[in-house]
Amino acid sequence: MSKRYNRREFVLATGAAFAGGIITGLSGCKSPKPRHTTSSAVPVTGKVIDAHLHLDATTIDRCLTVMDQNHIHYGMNIGIGGEQFEAFQQAYQPYKDRLGMMYAFDWQSWQSDPDYLSKTPDLLENAIEKGAHGVKIWKDLGLTVKDPNGDLVRIDDERLDPIWERAEKIGCIVAFHTVDPVAFFEPWNEQNERWEELELHPDWSFADRTVYPTRDDVLEQRNNVIRAYPKVRFQCVHGANYSENLEVVDAWMDEMPNMYVDTSARIGEFGRHSAEEGKAFFEKYQDRLMFGTDRVFRKDGEVQGAGPSKIFTREEDQKFYNIHWRYFQSTDIQFEHPTPIQGSWKIDGIGLSEKALTKLYWDNAFNLYGLDRFGVT
Ligand SMILES: [Zn+2]
Repeated sequence: MSKRYNRREFVLATGAAFAGGIITGLSGCKSPKPRHTTSSAVPVTGKVIDAHLHLDATTIDRCLTVMDQNHIHYGMNIGIGGEQFEAFQQAYQPYKDRLGMMYAFDWQSWQSDPDYLSKTPDLLENAIEKGAHGVKIWKDLGLTVKDPNGDLVRIDDERLDPIWERAEKIGCIVAFHTVDPVAFFEPWNEQNERWEELELHPDWSFADRTVYPTRDDVLEQRNNVIRAYPKVRFQCVHGANYSENLEVVDAWMDEMPNMYVDTSARIGEFGRHSAEEGKAFFEKYQDRLMFGTDRVFRKDGEVQGAGPSKIFTREEDQKFYNIHWRYFQSTDIQFEHPTPIQGSWKIDGIGLSEKALTKLYWDNAFNLYGLDRFGVT
């Protein structure tokens, strides 16, 4: 399938100078001055839908407070299963005009219950009847989920077809978080550009080829499902899990008109491309790109897309969200991206048109999720 991401090509293409995994800044550049610092402290639309955040029944108030402080009018709780789904489903009833939810399967149940798979379409339909907007397929499918025989299950395994068929029948969204950043599939050593992040989460390394399939293989499995079900709309999270290579994502979106992409936890990666390339991509696919942050709200710790788990101050959150507005709206150059643990390079704003921003921040998610049904205004 696609051209494999090659770090050296990438370095040459972007002008970023990596030395043994240490980013030293733009090659040959003196510290550049911002070109213009515009109104990037607020989103031009005034209000925004975050198509990708995480919370549970115990953090609804906290989440709404942070949303209110940062222009997020509606948020999609993307992927919650089992008892947590039931609890959230009950607790969020008064806030259905502010929050949505996506269901998640518990593949582990397949181990103890060989009939689990045959129950999944009904589990999905039941979740949709309870108000879920769709189902989130986490990265464990394709990487670690095994059938009761102990065999790794492919995403395009025909045994899963009844799930996608049901999704088509009831018109539910399927969100795919498939694989992870390129660096997590490369040897885990000091040369790895996400060394710091992998130290924090050693279980995020999928470099062992005797255990895990290749990244390209698993992404192709996902795409096979998207191709086979053109009437289902798929939310491919984290920049379709390949924001390192916009050429490839561009080709996918061109080929598959039912592929929608959210930006969650990938502003840093999008920002590694030149502002011109980033802007061209976001303008070209302005009808299928959705703003998302991957902000996590848990009682025992919160996460801003990536990095350490802690409770963030109002100022820290404002900084986090403001960088997003700045990236999409301004043409400022060389500022810190929102998830520095993913790499210490700087990014340039892409200065999108107001039309593209309005769709990115609001219209696309509103239409995909059918939010008029939930009284969202
Ligand atoms: Zn997430």
